Amino acid sequence: MKAVVDRDACIGCGLCTTICPDVFEMDDEDIAIVIADPVPADNEAEAQEAADSCPTDAISIED
Ligand code: SF4
Repeated sequence: MKAVVDRDACIGCGLCTTICPDVFEMDDEDIAIVIADPVPADNEAEAQEAADSCPTDAISIED
């Protein structure tokens, strides 16, 4: 599994980093970045939840 953040869509709410801190982190511009690529198997459910919870649908999950 691979997670991708659309930087133009991210509004910097930080929700994904709260739900799945092993995969998402805020960068210096307060935009979410992916720090685990590919997503470790143990974090896949959380990463999917983060994607589903993102208010702007900025996170894409790829197989
Ligand atoms: S949940 Fe979405 S909008 Fe919020 S920081 Fe993460 S990617 Fe950005």
